[in-house]
Amino acid sequence: MNEQVDLLFFGAHPDDVELSAGGTIVDAVKRGLRVGMIDLTRGEMGTRGTPQTRKREAQKSAKILGASFREQLDFGDGNLRTGREEELQIIEIIRRTRPSLVFAPYPDDRHPDHTRTGRLVTEAAFYAGLKSLTTSLPEHRPQTTIYYLQNYLQPPSSAA
Ligand SMILES: [Zn+2]
Repeated sequence: MNEQVDLLFFGAHPDDVELSAGGTIVDAVKRGLRVGMIDLTRGEMGTRGTPQTRKREAQKSAKILGASFREQLDFGDGNLRTGREEELQIIEIIRRTRPSLVFAPYPDDRHPDHTRTGRLVTEAAFYAGLKSLTTSLPEHRPQTTIYYLQNYLQPPSSAA
């Protein structure tokens, strides 16, 4: 698949993005922007719902919001892996979909998976722009990474 988007949203678990940034997605789609959604885990540690149910719900939710696609990775719910292999997977997704803006959880949250996702995605978005980092796809650097909030409130700040 080679599906380019304007905005690319990353979440740790299969309902994080819609709970924290669903309105932003609906608004963006109404403005004619293309949106993609990526879940880094299957949500297998969740107290409600099986991974299969959550995957079905996630796909339905993406459709309702108007996202062009939603993909699910398997970095491990409850102990989200952030090694080089995982980083390269994110880099490849960013290079493939070439978003102008990347959205990620604020990288300081009560749930460590959210914190890890925020850091991993921020760093991968930078590395995706390095020409000297050779992967199967050419480099692409999004303009910036924008954070959405989950459990902790933070004062709003402008993009760097
Ligand atoms: Zn979550």
